Amino acid sequence: MNSLSPNRNGDPYARARHRMVERLRERGIRDPRVLEAMERVPRHLFVEEALWARAYEDHPLPIGYGQTISQPYMVARMTELLEVKPGDRVLEVGAGSGYQTAILATLGARVYAVERIPELAARAQATLEALGITQVLIRAFDGTLGWPEMAPFDAILVAASSPTVPPPYLEQLVVGGRLVMPVGDETYQQLLRLIKGEREHTVQWHGGCVFVKLIGQYGWKE
Ligand code: SAH
Repeated sequence: MNSLSPNRNGDPYARARHRMVERLRERGIRDPRVLEAMERVPRHLFVEEALWARAYEDHPLPIGYGQTISQPYMVARMTELLEVKPGDRVLEVGAGSGYQTAILATLGARVYAVERIPELAARAQATLEALGITQVLIRAFDGTLGWPEMAPFDAILVAASSPTVPPPYLEQLVVGGRLVMPVGDETYQQLLRLIKGEREHTVQWHGGCVFVKLIGQYGWKE
């Protein structure tokens, strides 16, 4: 059987997806809940049909408007670092295709997802609805402002890069809450994990990465 042979459930990509998860495990993703969520969510449905056969390779792929669906390893790593528990209120900035949103929702989070490009937000919403993934709210606006009406959040995940952490994120996070985002210049960033403290925050750096730009009031100016 090759990777496109149907499995019992009739999903022709189930085997390819399983292999993707095995590779994530080999690359060091440990959290079994994250691996299980990535085994369940059909990543191919978040890209156009012409790209379905490539959807389980460990690469970003174009989703239009100059944006990309993040690489599976990066989605897994960021999700793991976010330590999401069922019922957590999570702000996601840069929803793009909605794939990361689906992973967070599958972990039981209530996801408030912001996407700057209205067409992408609408498409992500439609994809999630078609998959029966509820408990997510997607809106199109400048996510560098956070989402004050829905704050506070237990966790914030930002899938676009900024030279500094937008101040609204720290204001909208609960004490003990986690922020995971790429911070750096336009071409190369480091993955930041910050845990909010009463007075001081815990800051950890988790290696190099390359994301598209976070464009807005507290990010890049186009
Ligand atoms: N997690 C997404 C990643 C998409 S790429 C996925 O895997 O599909 C990052 C996204 O951030 C892009 O869609 C881009 O339009 C969006 N973005 C950039 N600046 C933003 C901002 N200020 N607010 C909200 N979204 C933003």
